[in-house]
Amino acid sequence: METKLIVGLEIHVQLATRTKLFCGCKLGFDDPPNSNVCPVCLGMPGVLPVMNRTAYEYAVRTALALNCTVAEFTKWDRKQYYYPDLPKNYQISQYDLPLGYDGYMDIPLAEGGYKKIGIIRTHLEEDAGKNQHEGLNHSRVDLNRTGTPLMEIVTQPDLNSPEECKTLAIELQKLVQFLGVAEADMQKGHMRFEPNINLLIIDDDGREYKTPIIEVKNLNSFRAVERAVAYEAWRQLDEWKRDHNYTLEKLGKQNRGWDDGRNETVFQREKEEAHDYRYFPDPDLVPLKMDPAWLESITAQVCELPLAMKQRFVEEYDLSDYDAGVLTADRATAEYFDKAVTLANGPVKRVANLVTQQGLKVARERACRVDEIGVSPKQLAELARLLEEGTVNASAGTKIFELMLDDDRDPETIARENNLLQQSDAGAIEAIVDAVFAANQDAVEEIQSGGKKAKKARGFLMGEIMKQSRGQANPQVANQLLDEKLKM
Ligand code: ZN
Ligand code: MN
Repeated sequence: METKLIVGLEIHVQLATRTKLFCGCKLGFDDPPNSNVCPVCLGMPGVLPVMNRTAYEYAVRTALALNCTVAEFTKWDRKQYYYPDLPKNYQISQYDLPLGYDGYMDIPLAEGGYKKIGIIRTHLEEDAGKNQHEGLNHSRVDLNRTGTPLMEIVTQPDLNSPEECKTLAIELQKLVQFLGVAEADMQKGHMRFEPNINLLIIDDDGREYKTPIIEVKNLNSFRAVERAVAYEAWRQLDEWKRDHNYTLEKLGKQNRGWDDGRNETVFQREKEEAHDYRYFPDPDLVPLKMDPAWLESITAQVCELPLAMKQRFVEEYDLSDYDAGVLTADRATAEYFDKAVTLANGPVKRVANLVTQQGLKVARERACRVDEIGVSPKQLAELARLLEEGTVNASAGTKIFELMLDDDRDPETIARENNLLQQSDAGAIEAIVDAVFAANQDAVEEIQSGGKKAKKARGFLMGEIMKQSRGQANPQVANQLLDEKLKM
C-alpha cells in the first residue's frame, strides 16, 4: 500500500494599511471595542463603500511577487453569510475575477533545493468583526475589525508534507514583510491558515482511493499548521483503514476545527459550496480597471525578494546557507548587511560575523531592528576592515562594536582613544618580550632544555607578553619574536 499526502493552503494576510478597505476608519489593535467604526463598516443601510487604493496596490504588489498574472479588469462581489459579527450579512470579496492568478512561489526544502508551489489565485476581501464569549454569560460583538483589508492567497494542492506546509507559511510571512505590505504579526492574528488536506491511497491491488478533502479552519500559528496537517494525515488513513468507504466520492468535503490543547482536529460541518453563498457583483462598488501605467508603478515597488536575496548572499558573498538565512530573515537586517558589505568592499565574512554575533544579539536584547541599535553600516564596514587588516584584534573588535553603540565616530578613532589598536610594530613588541624574558628566566630555561613542561612554559610566556601589552600585541608578530629569541 502507498499513500500520498496532498495539501493546498488558503492563507489570509492582513494588509498594513492605515485605514479599512471600504471606509476611513482607523485600523487599530487593542483599541476599546467598537471605537473604530462608522456607518459603512457597521453596515448601516444606504451607505456607500469606497475602495482603499493603497490596499489594492499592496495586494497587487504581493500578487506580482508571487508571479501571478494581474487582472486588467476585476470587480467586487457579495458573499452572503449570516453571522452576528457581520452586520451587513455579506462580505465584500472577489469571486470569479480575482486580482491575481496563475502564479507560483518557491520554497526551500529541508533536503536542499527548492520546490515550486503553484498559486491558484490572490484576491482582496474585508474581514468580519469579533464575537466575545469569554467570561460572560452573554456574547458581545466588537466591530473594530470589520472592513480590515485581507489578502487571500490560495495555493495549488502541491504541498506533500506537514513540513512543506509550515515552510510555505514561514516563507510567505517573510515575503509580505519584505514587500512592506503586511506586518504579518502572528501574535496579533495577522495571518490565518486553512489547509485543505486529503490522501491518495493505492492499495496492494493497485486500486486508488481518495479520502475526503478536509479543510481545517482558522489556524493562526506555524506550529498549528504543521500539527494539524500531520494529525489529519494520520486520522484520514486510520478512518480509511476501518472503512474503505471513507472517500471523497462518498463524503465530499468537510470542515474541521483545530483544538490546540488536545492537538487534534474536530468535526465542524459539511463544507459549503460556492453556490451556498449566493455570490453576486456588489452594485455599490465600481469595477476596477488596471491601466498599464498604474501596474508599472506598482511593479516598481516590488523589492528583491528574501529567497533571491539569500541565494545572492550565498553565491556572490560566499556565505553559508545558514548565515545567509539568518541575514535575510527580515528586510531591515538584509539591507543593513548588504549596505555594510558594499561599503567594506571585501571582508564579507567579517561583516557577517559582526552582524550575526553582535548586532542581532543587541537587537534581540533591545527588541528593535538591527539598523536601530546605533551602529551604522559605514561604522560596521570600517570595523570589518580594521579587523581584516589586523589593525585591531578580535577581542578589541568586540569592544569597539560595543562602544560604537553609543558613539557615532569612526571605529579607528574610537580604537585609538581607548588603546585598542593592535601593536604590530616589532620594535615595541620586542621590548616587551625582552622584559618578560628577564623576569621569567626559569621558564625560558625550561623551554630551552626541552623538558616536559616546555610547552606549558611557552604558553605562559606568550600569556605574559599579551598581558604586558594589554592585549594589543599582534599575536603573530609576538609568536615569531618569541621563537627567534628562544633559539638564541
Ligand atoms: Zn468604518
Ligand atoms: Mn476568504
